Amino acid sequence: MQIRDKVFLVTGAGSGLGAAVARMLAEAGASVLTIDVNASAGEKTAAELGGKALFFRADVTSEADGLAAVRHAEEMFGGIHGLVNCAGIAPGERVIGRDAPHGLDSFARTVAVNLLGTFNMLRLAASVMVKGEADTDGERGIIINTASIAAFDGQIGQAAYAASKGGVVALTLPVARELARHGVRVVTIAPGIFETPMMAAMPQEVRDALGASVPFPPRLGRPDEYAGLVRHICQNTMLNGEVIRLDGALRMAP
Ligand code: NAD
Repeated sequence: MQIRDKVFLVTGAGSGLGAAVARMLAEAGASVLTIDVNASAGEKTAAELGGKALFFRADVTSEADGLAAVRHAEEMFGGIHGLVNCAGIAPGERVIGRDAPHGLDSFARTVAVNLLGTFNMLRLAASVMVKGEADTDGERGIIINTASIAAFDGQIGQAAYAASKGGVVALTLPVARELARHGVRVVTIAPGIFETPMMAAMPQEVRDALGASVPFPPRLGRPDEYAGLVRHICQNTMLNGEVIRLDGALRMAP
């Protein structure tokens, strides 16, 4: 799919990976609806992108919010060709054991944002994409999800996060198969460790150590490297139903 003149929704666009993706898409000539639960952050991204970017405040866990966002994109831009799901949380609190009295609530919240939120936006955007006009390749839309290497390699303290991202990995192939007959592709990226505000909560020495543990390049990923893979996935129509690790070959010991 050519990005120019297409309409993309980017969730979590107020920060980190989502903001970098929104920037890449706008620079490549797309109209972008930046979506975030944090209005000031999402608005800031849209304002920085200028003319063809608009912000819509939505909580991805809400069907009503998601539907309103999708309708807004249809009204303002005339359709939807792409969705990049970047909204996510990594609370980092224990969900198991005696020191985790709110473990069940925390687990449910993490799964709600990362897994249910991804699926909510995916199914709402897909319902618009399938009505759109196909390009010469028969393609109508592209959906890109954000999982994590935690889906394969979850560490102590990551039970909720890893499970939520494992769900995103698992839904990729069946949803890609289901939407294939409509010319809509679904691809998931599983990032390693990227330099974003989500990681800023970690002390610098921990981030440095994590970066040094990446085989190559021995550093944390940069959001524009994530956006670069999103660009490639959009442009390579054969890529479908796949989960792609973007992690510098990082494999973490427990
Ligand atoms: P970030 O915290 O910088 O940005 C996440 C954005 O999502 C924020 O703007 C936040 O307001 C928004 N958001 C959170 N809950 C939301 C909700 N319910 N509805 C709408 N928006 C919501 O994080 P990031 O590092 O850019 O992460 C982006 C995605 O990449 C997340 O899904 C994260 O799990 C995943 N990821 C990040 C890393 C990393 O190292 N940074 C690694 C693996 C996976």
